[in-house]
Amino acid sequence: MIAAPEAEATFALRMRQRRDALGISQKVLARKVSLERGWTEQATIARIETGKRGVSLADAIALAQALSCELGDLLTPVKCQACKDNPPAGYSCQTCGTSSERSTA
Ligand SMILES: [Zn+2]
Repeated sequence: MIAAPEAEATFALRMRQRRDALGISQKVLARKVSLERGWTEQATIARIETGKRGVSLADAIALAQALSCELGDLLTPVKCQACKDNPPAGYSCQTCGTSSERSTA
């Protein structure tokens, strides 16, 4: 089990990575979450992603649903602190060995 501050930082990072992977903007994500929660503005998404705003469990679940993933996916700790498991395009990570080749999934 990871500690709370780490979980919040992980959630913020994983949420942004997942949004990037889907290729949607903060605004689009906010609109999707609003369907579930009825509150979200783009600025709120930005604040969550930068760790300036915490999320309730209900918010976290709504975000996971909007990102079409499991809540647990957004709480998976980052293995490589250097690249945050997210090497730039065309590179592979020396530490964790992952490459940035796009998955077809
Ligand atoms: Zn790495």
